[in-house]
Amino acid sequence: MHEYSVVQALLQQIDDIAKENDATRITKIVTKIGVMSGIETHLLEVAFNTFKEKTICDSAEFIINVQALTIRCRACQAVSELEKIHYCCQECASTDVEVIDGEEMFLMSLEME
Ligand SMILES: [Zn+2]
Repeated sequence: MHEYSVVQALLQQIDDIAKENDATRITKIVTKIGVMSGIETHLLEVAFNTFKEKTICDSAEFIINVQALTIRCRACQAVSELEKIHYCCQECASTDVEVIDGEEMFLMSLEME
């Protein structure tokens, strides 16, 4: 399952950050999951709960913020959050757009002790 490798990478990243900060426990993890990242949020939670055992994240609260697909129009520079997946500017209907958010997963913040 894709989500398992995502969580393993995430836990590794968190472990590195914790070591840098001399933290012994993570209390809260906030992530942002793009709607087009290919990650199923409920599967991500299942994977997290499976892998957190015996890690520094064992008792951490796991927050998932779903990020809408966001585009910037090259014609009029408008930034739009798309409700439907059609890559088209909501201001001027141009299809010359670049995706600026909503396709990836990011670790947004950590709270640690
Ligand atoms: Zn536009």
